[in-house]
Amino acid sequence: MRFDTRLVHSGQRPSPGTGDIVPPIHVATTYDRFAQEPLRLFYSRGENPTRDALEECLASLEDARFCAVFSSGQAAATTMLSVLTPGQRVVSSDDVYGGTYALFATLGRFGIQVDYADLTDPAEVRRALATDTAMVWVETPSNPLLKITDVAEVSRSAHARGALVVVDNTFASPALQRPLALGADVSLYSTTKFIAGHADVLGGALVCDDEALHAGFVEHRTVTGGVPGGLDCYLVHRGVKTLSLRVARQTATARSIAEELCERPAVTEVFYPGLPSHPAHRLAGRQMSGPGSIISFRYRGDPEKLMARTQLFACAVSLGGVRSLIECPASMTHRPIPRAVRHAAGITDDLIRLSIGIEDPADLLEDLTTALEGDS
Ligand SMILES: *Cc1c(COP(=O)(O)O)cnc(C)c1O
Repeated sequence: MRFDTRLVHSGQRPSPGTGDIVPPIHVATTYDRFAQEPLRLFYSRGENPTRDALEECLASLEDARFCAVFSSGQAAATTMLSVLTPGQRVVSSDDVYGGTYALFATLGRFGIQVDYADLTDPAEVRRALATDTAMVWVETPSNPLLKITDVAEVSRSAHARGALVVVDNTFASPALQRPLALGADVSLYSTTKFIAGHADVLGGALVCDDEALHAGFVEHRTVTGGVPGGLDCYLVHRGVKTLSLRVARQTATARSIAEELCERPAVTEVFYPGLPSHPAHRLAGRQMSGPGSIISFRYRGDPEKLMARTQLFACAVSLGGVRSLIECPASMTHRPIPRAVRHAAGITDDLIRLSIGIEDPADLLEDLTTALEGDS
């Protein structure tokens, strides 16, 4: 089966006995021992058939052997970090999701050091990996500046040093980028975003090929309790069926909006990997099957006023859903990062991030251009 067929068919076998073409939602927390043959279900923190079906689907999207799903992207990230031991060191992209940065800030008390580096720069990668490293954490495209890291190149360098490579693939989704095929060890997802796609359920996933690593993830999830419920798994599995359709539409609209933004006098800089002016435009073209639907830009006027003026773009954090969103990273998603660190990384107060939805492209363009003209 090819990718788009797997989206619809993986983990979706008709139920024996009834023939439901959509597997039922299992909400029971516990299972009767004597009603099962063979005995395999005990307690839903450990086992849940709706969860199994979703995991089968998400693993297949990357041609991977294993997937473990979680109650949120942050729960997946926490479990990922549980493989580390005191004294070990993580090298991370310097432009990561705000919550990842906040999570890394908690690791010091466990004796784990996190160093940030611009992993888009080969010289910085070499410098960062010159010291013992247990894990390299890559986010590409990065958030919010859409920087592109060469996953194959970083994976080679990291593996030469014995480090595990994790790619937060939330922004690209498996529709546009397959980190395991590029050489990474684990793909991490906030399924809350593109995979579920409708802004109505939280979820996370860790996808990998290594059996021992996967078993460790499942054990950590079971004992710490970051499991998604049956209904949440169903919603994610329902959403993912239209991933390719949504991403194709969102990407096409994002491309035209990014081009239009470049023409606007109120916009001083546009960050979008689909633009030939993007420093890693060619790398993005090789590594991803499309530039995606997140755009950032620097705005000459007042970001607060701009965000208040858009009618269709809701001013809200998160991304990847069917509905378009606008936000200011410095005052919203990336606020927990100290201002000086934020500014040094290019996340200045005039930066605006858009998540393009599936509305009519002409309506979105009209809404945005009208809002941009407001300050002039
Ligand atoms: C949202 C997000 C997360 C965290 O996921 P939650 O589901 O909100 O816990 C992690 N990484 C990236 C890139 C994200 O966008």
